[in-house]
Amino acid sequence: MSNGGGTAAQLRDIEERMGSAAQAAGRPVGDVTLIAVSKTFDADAIRPVIAAGQRQFGENRVQEAKGKWPELRAETVDIVLHLIGPLQSNKAREAVELFDAIHTIDREKIARVVAEEMTRQGRQLQLFVQVNTGEEPQKAGVPPAEAVAFVSMCRDRLGLAISGLMCIPPVDEAAAVHFAFLAKLAKEAGVSGLSMGMSDDFETAIAFGATHVRVGSAIFGGRG
Ligand SMILES: *Cc1c(COP(=O)(O)O)cnc(C)c1O
Repeated sequence: MSNGGGTAAQLRDIEERMGSAAQAAGRPVGDVTLIAVSKTFDADAIRPVIAAGQRQFGENRVQEAKGKWPELRAETVDIVLHLIGPLQSNKAREAVELFDAIHTIDREKIARVVAEEMTRQGRQLQLFVQVNTGEEPQKAGVPPAEAVAFVSMCRDRLGLAISGLMCIPPVDEAAAVHFAFLAKLAKEAGVSGLSMGMSDDFETAIAFGATHVRVGSAIFGGRG
């Protein structure tokens, strides 16, 4: 895992920039949840950010999260853990045990096994449907044209409450276009959550209505 790690100063800086972006957009500051993305950083690199008051964290791998978060959760009871990376169905059981939210529901099979696991474990996770807004072949996510029907299927057929939509815009395109598109799809699907915006573009995402921003390197430093 990488050296370095998060600092209280970097966290405060992001919080201030989020506040300014919300204010500029005429939105209440408290409307936007900061998810500190701690992937590749070990427990010692994360502790200063927890000590500075941050409680919501994001990880992209179930296995990696399993290696550090049980220990960190034992130290701080009110941690909220978000899975922001792709989920395989054979990891669904562990994911539902470990995480409080999953941002990457993107096919019926995953939706189905997550629904079954939540019932089996008696746990209710916050769920986002990932949309491949750039229609990139290598990227996960429901095709935009299917997003509304997919959310309805989750709700009506699987009884899953979907909180919102999530996207990762193509690296070589203006993120704003994708954020606006995701916001439009969410409205059509009748969901209010918008998980969008990373270190380089979270202020833009807030301008377009992000409810959850996922910020890694701007808090923890580069991942090498
Ligand atoms: C790594 C990651 C982030 C954070 O990216 P930064 O550019 O480091 O802020 C956000 N979302 C997802 C899905 C990621 O995998």
